[in-house]
Amino acid sequence: MVKPLPVLDDLSRPYWEAARKGTLLLQRCATCGRHQFYPRPFCLSCAGSDLEWVEATGSGTLHTFAVVHRTADPAFADDVPYVFAVVELSEGPRLTVNVVDTPSESLRCDMRIRIIFADVGDDAAIPNARGDA
Ligand SMILES: [Zn+2]
Repeated sequence: MVKPLPVLDDLSRPYWEAARKGTLLLQRCATCGRHQFYPRPFCLSCAGSDLEWVEATGSGTLHTFAVVHRTADPAFADDVPYVFAVVELSEGPRLTVNVVDTPSESLRCDMRIRIIFADVGDDAAIPNARGDA
């Protein structure tokens, strides 16, 4: 089974190309300064369209998580158990990731995390997180 890969379009292409190089980008509104994720053609805060790509710190906190023991998608069957999580970046936006390289027993909401990238083939990489003690 093949896992889904990122689909690049005009809006998301800068994000995925940076991810391939191990860099996390966020959109920042040049008008109000707010960061946002995922990529959109307008600012969620002020509806402005003057958005720029900026490098994120890659640090944040674990907002919530679940340890997945069974998956409905056969492509992920070899990965169980894995940790699915929502992390809150220092810049504010939240994103969904897998937490890797960190024992699930040690995970606590609000603990510090760091974004890392995993190569997923086809010259693509996706963000994951690990505990950042
Ligand atoms: Zn704005």
